[in-house]
Amino acid sequence: MKIAIPRERRPGERRVAASPETVKKFKTLGLDVVVESGAGLGSSLPDAAYEAAGAVIAADAASALADADIVLKVQRPLIAQEVEKGEGGEDELALIRKGALLFAILNPYNSRDHVKAYADAGVNAFAMEFMPRITRAQVMDVLSSQANLAGYKAVVDAASEYGRAFPMMMTAAGTVPPARAFIMGVGVAGLQAIATAKRLGAIVSATDVRPAVKEQVQSLGGSFVAVENDEFKQAETAGGYAKEMSDDYKRQQAALVAEHIRKQDIVITTALIPGRKAPILVTAEHVASMKPGSVIVDLAVEQGGNVEGAKLGEVVTTANGVKIVGHANYASRIAESASLLYAKNLLALLTSLHGKETGVAVNWDDEIVKAIALTRDGAIVHPAFADTRE
Ligand code: NAD
Repeated sequence: MKIAIPRERRPGERRVAASPETVKKFKTLGLDVVVESGAGLGSSLPDAAYEAAGAVIAADAASALADADIVLKVQRPLIAQEVEKGEGGEDELALIRKGALLFAILNPYNSRDHVKAYADAGVNAFAMEFMPRITRAQVMDVLSSQANLAGYKAVVDAASEYGRAFPMMMTAAGTVPPARAFIMGVGVAGLQAIATAKRLGAIVSATDVRPAVKEQVQSLGGSFVAVENDEFKQAETAGGYAKEMSDDYKRQQAALVAEHIRKQDIVITTALIPGRKAPILVTAEHVASMKPGSVIVDLAVEQGGNVEGAKLGEVVTTANGVKIVGHANYASRIAESASLLYAKNLLALLTSLHGKETGVAVNWDDEIVKAIALTRDGAIVHPAFADTRE
């Protein structure tokens, strides 16, 4: 059985879907690995490292993908419609053989044409970001592995855009006050952002619609920003999921957050809702209330943004001197670490599908497979895309 690792072709993507370490493991499972020349360069992984691990290096995508049974990618392949529209590149999907298994972060909600194209091409496509959040799948959870690094990098980026210091510094020439950093959304990225800002010496606070995260914030040395009335306390004990709060509560919480943001130097927003536009957490009014030199990093900018005025791929400076950082593809900004973890996620999934006799074989009844499979033998099988036909 042959696994192919083509070079990523979408602009700005520096990650790669396999590492020399995972290639070695695939080889011990009896699988052949072909890596397209240069695939690892964006993550400082030269061809020679893959070769030493047992991979064959192919000169181009066509020869890497020819006869491949399994294709591992970071981003969805380019398809004919994109190439025809003059968006550049070559039709990668056409190079993948019928019946092959494709594993990647396919972003299907924003690319329904692709889902249809995978089905039409007879490629069995699996969206890694649909990995269910069950214990068995934790090691395969790409959203967690990539969000963790994004949370770290967001704070490091904020620190480099910020013209003042994060930690308090007491020097002979005077005292530099510590930065105040506010993290909005305490999922995987938010928790890492809290930990990173704390390590850099900031005074850290955070908020989330899930009261259950209060303890996690505090355990990392941050303070939790919420109106802690009876309604909050009840929601807090009700379990981990966000409960719809009353309008009165929402009004009080909004006023508290507005007052809090005004005093912050750094704001990192991380709130995402899968398959939907990100909620606005920081309004233009909030931004206008901040001090000049403050920095906001919007990690949700690709999903429409948590911050009013954020622009995808840009660092915007507002009239009152606040920088809003809207970099695209945060994980790619820390590509070496992101590739290593992503490659491990894929290795774990393929290992779970692998049997001694069968090689990699998909059990279509498995809970994990059901969650991530988009297409099977020419049909769209994921219920969220059942209407993506004609
Ligand atoms: P996410 O990226 O979907 O969202 C980030 C955070 O933003 C979430 O905590 C969410 O509650 C919050 N948020 C959404 N709307 C908001 C709003 N209007 N205001 C403030 N905050 C808002 O989240 P995630 O990183 O995927 O993590 C979600 C949860 O899943 C976490 O508790 C995490 O620990 C858990 N998790 C479990 C597993 C597992 O069991 N295998 C794996 C990963 C994450």
